[in-house]
Amino acid sequence: MGLRKKTLITIGMTLILMVLIIYSITNTILLGGYANLERENIILSMDQAMKVIDDELGQLQTIVGDWAPWNDTYFFVQNKNQKYIDDNLMDLTLVNLHINFLLFINTAGEIVHCTYLDLESGRGEACPESIKKYLSFEGSFILRNESKNETLSGLAILPENPILIASAPILTSQFKGPVMGTLIAGRYLNAPEIKRLASLINLPVTFERLDSPSLSDSSKKAKQSLFMENKVAIIPLDENTIAAYSLVTDLTGSPILMLGIDKERTIYSQGKTDMRYLVYSLLIIGIVFIIATLISLEVTVLSRLVRLNSDVKKIARTGDLFAKTTMTGKDELFDLSTQINLMIESVRVSTERDRAILESIEDAYFELDLSGNLTFYNDAMSRIFGYEGQNLGKMNYRKLLDESAAEEASNTFQHLYNTGIPIRSMETEFKLKSGQKIYLESSAALIKDNNGKVIGFRGISRDVTEQKESSKKLLYMVYHDSLTGLLNRKAFHENLEKELSYADRYKQQRVVMYVDLDKFKKVNDTFGHDAGDHLLKGFAHRVKKILRDTDLVYRLGGDEFAIILTNPEETTPNTIAQRIIDVMAQPFYLKSQTIDFVTTSIGISFYPLDATDAETLLQCADKAMYEAKKMRNQYVIYQGNSS
Ligand code: GH3
Ligand code: MG
Repeated sequence: MGLRKKTLITIGMTLILMVLIIYSITNTILLGGYANLERENIILSMDQAMKVIDDELGQLQTIVGDWAPWNDTYFFVQNKNQKYIDDNLMDLTLVNLHINFLLFINTAGEIVHCTYLDLESGRGEACPESIKKYLSFEGSFILRNESKNETLSGLAILPENPILIASAPILTSQFKGPVMGTLIAGRYLNAPEIKRLASLINLPVTFERLDSPSLSDSSKKAKQSLFMENKVAIIPLDENTIAAYSLVTDLTGSPILMLGIDKERTIYSQGKTDMRYLVYSLLIIGIVFIIATLISLEVTVLSRLVRLNSDVKKIARTGDLFAKTTMTGKDELFDLSTQINLMIESVRVSTERDRAILESIEDAYFELDLSGNLTFYNDAMSRIFGYEGQNLGKMNYRKLLDESAAEEASNTFQHLYNTGIPIRSMETEFKLKSGQKIYLESSAALIKDNNGKVIGFRGISRDVTEQKESSKKLLYMVYHDSLTGLLNRKAFHENLEKELSYADRYKQQRVVMYVDLDKFKKVNDTFGHDAGDHLLKGFAHRVKKILRDTDLVYRLGGDEFAIILTNPEETTPNTIAQRIIDVMAQPFYLKSQTIDFVTTSIGISFYPLDATDAETLLQCADKAMYEAKKMRNQYVIYQGNSS
């Protein structure tokens, strides 16, 4: 993922987190505050509603307070005169007083008179039985106007509707007694009346009977809350409406109704709107902040970093160590660019130095990948293999080796790969482009990447062909006779030891023949030393021809030779000895001379018949040869001590 993307994600996530935190904090604090305000506000409205009811009851009290302490009323409850009814209890009076009824009860508890008006139609009607029944039964609390000042007011529940009522003791106009009865004024709390009350506080109002079986869920909750000693129960109905409930008591102070008001949640909604605006503003500020931060980062860091990155990549791709990264300004990025340039410079210097060293040495330097393909090499490598001025390319090293050498080298590299132990000096025969063979002595080690993983091999190879050839020559000289090219005495002794131990192991026989030329000195003396040499070479040549490849002839010195027969059963030693004598009988022709007097004397000994060690075996053959010498041009088989 690019730096730009990472930066955008980091800043974006921070912003989202910040907005979420601020949102949840403000949601808790601000909305909590708004909810409290809303609570206080609806409690205030509920107080108002309760006050309106109190005011209504107060009005009724004022009415009974005016009408009860009045001489006319005082006498009316005593004599029930029609004139009082005609003068005072007209329908219009009740309309003006805005009451449904006036009830006059005497001290005996009897209803003296009841005037009733339907406020909606404005017409007087017969007093409903329910009113009479509720207010007139004996012992009714409302009749207990024993003291002159006792007025009562409150709500009561009648079967048809709740009512607001107030009562006052009937006295003289001078507030004198004795109390002649009770005057009760009442007003139904029916739908139009509730509507009127609602209009007074400008809020929807409901009255529900506490014993109603059909309370709504919110009302049930409110009832529960109110019965838990809460003065006001506040129940949010939905997102937009909240309701408050309060208990309304009857004349005795017992709760009978639940007054409910509904209110729009303007404060809370305002709070939510404010919150929304706050979050929107935060988001907009955040986005502006992100854009500003990104632009600033882009200008000051990102674009420059991207350029620096592409500069460095280009240098790595092209390998142009003379190239430089470009950076303006005077900050850390500029310092970084300068440091990178210094590092490239130092890499260039050390690369050039390495290159100079590699090109100046005579030895081949090579680097291989794990498959054995050349990945790097110096000029000496091409030169040694005959590819001078050409390209070895990514040639696999196995192509420079014969099959068996390639197999061996592959095993060596495998061991190096497995153990990590550097190869110190591995001598391998390579083939050049021309097909010629050379010997290289190589050392090699592993190439590892930054993580320590092996990715190839590197090494140095030195051409040791000359040393190898001269040591081969030396070895040849140690074991060969320079004149005849035959194996020499040293080779004879070593091989004889080997042959005898081999024969022991496989229960075989070996035969040693000791050959000495007869009258050889005469050749030297007569024809010269060169003629002698020539004859020695000629003899060697003839003997080799009649022997099998496995039977070797050795020159022990002077005109003495030895032969080891490795499988004497097949061709009897006698036959071979006779053949040697025969070939020597043939004359030698040297320029203008003919040599025909040199013969051979041969002594033969058998292993293990005649001796159990090499030295004795040779002595036995020597002794037999000595016997032959006595006769010349003969072969003699060793006959034990008797010979
Ligand atoms: P005999 O018949 O008893 O074997 O005697 P001979 O003449 O063969 O002489 P002998 O075997 O006693 O000595 C070998 C001689 O070979 C001695 C030496 O002068 C000569 N001789 C030794 N080495 C060389 C050599 O490399 N070249 C030549 N031309 N002569 C050699
Ligand atoms: Mg001799």
